[in-house]
Amino acid sequence: MASGPAYDVVVVGARCAGAPLAMLLARAGHRVALVDRASFPSDTMSTHFLWQRGTARLQAWGLLGRLRARGCAPIRQITFDPGPVQISGIGPAVAGAADTYCPRRTVLDALVVEAAAESGADLVERFVVGEVIWSDGRAAGVRGRRPGSAGSSLRAAVVVGADGMHSGIARRVGARAYTEHPPLTAVYYSYWSGIRGLGASFHARPGQLILTWPTNDDLTCIYVAWPRQDLHRVRRDIEGRFHAALELIPGLREAVAAGHREARFTGTADLPSFYRASAGPGWALAGDAGHHKDPCTGMGMSDAFLTADLLAGAIHQGLAGNPPMDQALASYQQRRDAMTANGFELTLSTARLAPLSPRLEALYRTAADQPEIARHVFGVLGGSIPLRDLHTQARLLPASLTAPSASSCDTIPNARAKASNGLVGSGFSAVSVPAAWLYVLGQAGGREACRGRRHEAEQQGGSACQRGKARGGTIRRSVRG
Ligand SMILES: Cc1cc2nc3c(=O)[nH]c(=O)nc-3n(C[C@H](O)[C@H](O)[C@H](O)COP(=O)(O)OP(=O)(O)OC[C@H]3O[C@@H](n4cnc5c(N)ncnc54)[C@H](O)[C@@H]3O)c2cc1C
Repeated sequence: MASGPAYDVVVVGARCAGAPLAMLLARAGHRVALVDRASFPSDTMSTHFLWQRGTARLQAWGLLGRLRARGCAPIRQITFDPGPVQISGIGPAVAGAADTYCPRRTVLDALVVEAAAESGADLVERFVVGEVIWSDGRAAGVRGRRPGSAGSSLRAAVVVGADGMHSGIARRVGARAYTEHPPLTAVYYSYWSGIRGLGASFHARPGQLILTWPTNDDLTCIYVAWPRQDLHRVRRDIEGRFHAALELIPGLREAVAAGHREARFTGTADLPSFYRASAGPGWALAGDAGHHKDPCTGMGMSDAFLTADLLAGAIHQGLAGNPPMDQALASYQQRRDAMTANGFELTLSTARLAPLSPRLEALYRTAADQPEIARHVFGVLGGSIPLRDLHTQARLLPASLTAPSASSCDTIPNARAKASNGLVGSGFSAVSVPAAWLYVLGQAGGREACRGRRHEAEQQGGSACQRGKARGGTIRRSVRG
């Protein structure tokens, strides 16, 4: 077996988490190997919604212009249709990024991989990592192979698993999972040509969620989610179930019928929610490998970018020995947890596909009449602004929406999480959908999530989610229709 060169960092997985991480570390002057069993461009199971906080990172990294140049148009209006009313608008800009985007993964991932290679990372495609190398109790590299060739080793001071939800690196380093929830939804999506004017829309009905996005190549991606327990019923007649869901939204089925479906239905019910310990001696996890949630709120890619940014800063500091690497990696995990906790709870709540509560209906009715409230609702849904900003406009809200317990449990403070990380662009808000929002949602978990959050966050600098007890296992299944 040949021994490879010594790197500062080897990153396993080259998509939304791994590629920007490698890019940032290479730009900071570190020797980085970025490996993936895939080659690029290539697709992966994912739809496309990138909130402004994700867009803002692409902009800060100098990649947003390239995305647009590859035929990905900005989206300046989102329709949120929870049933009784429709709200149209968009959240406030994040760090100057005003628009959202819906890039195909063939485009987005390839673009960031190219940027990593341009920045000096050694890109190794079609390299399947099979083992972690250990030295004195620390991860010290990986072993893997390309098809048809002998195995080889890549030695490094830090091994990062950015290898997705089923991370083999997490398994090999024994990363413990916490705050686990079994899958809540089963989803299918596909692409249509010839549909004009649907735009980016989010339609919520009890037991169903229907999302539409314009994406590259003048295609419209349409995604339907059902409760996880409906999977077998849906699989028996995917097309029929899909169209039955479209019929729930006035005019949608007709609009889709005017177009042409260009791809098979892709679907999965393998959508567990969890955190994993993401830092240990010589290793760390980024993106879905360390934290996964249902895609219904479209936060996974933005959060993968966030973890790339945070982890790049931590590794940069650790390689300089200030603080020592293990301490830097541990603080990365704490910051990640704090900055994703509220988005995690909001996503769990949304994925339950529950009927609209009267309280939330009242909020949405108000937002439908008042564009400024609607703007804040979109900002909260996208995880870029805390509810306290909505509360500053409380005079505009019905009295029933300004319950004191909501405001008394506001968001985890952002400032500490943003501080002392030279590579984290200034101006980014934390992913700070607050527990108070869940109180307003009036759905299961909101009040409980609220209690103790501030105390725990302050004590641990981490997420109140950490105290959660694992509930049940996951059911894994990916299906293509
Ligand atoms: C149906 C669906 C819809 C979604 N829609 C959205 C959306 O609209 N918006 C959004 O923000 N998020 C969405 N997501 C979530 C999003 O896709 C993920 O959060 C995101 O891809 C995470 O990026 P990642 O880099 O962490 O992992 P991944 O994208 O999973 O990449 C992991 C990489 O690791 C590589 N790898 C794995 N094992 C090995 C190995 N042993 N050796 C070498 N390489 C390896 C894989 O080849 C892969 O390229 C959706 C997810 C699903 C399932």
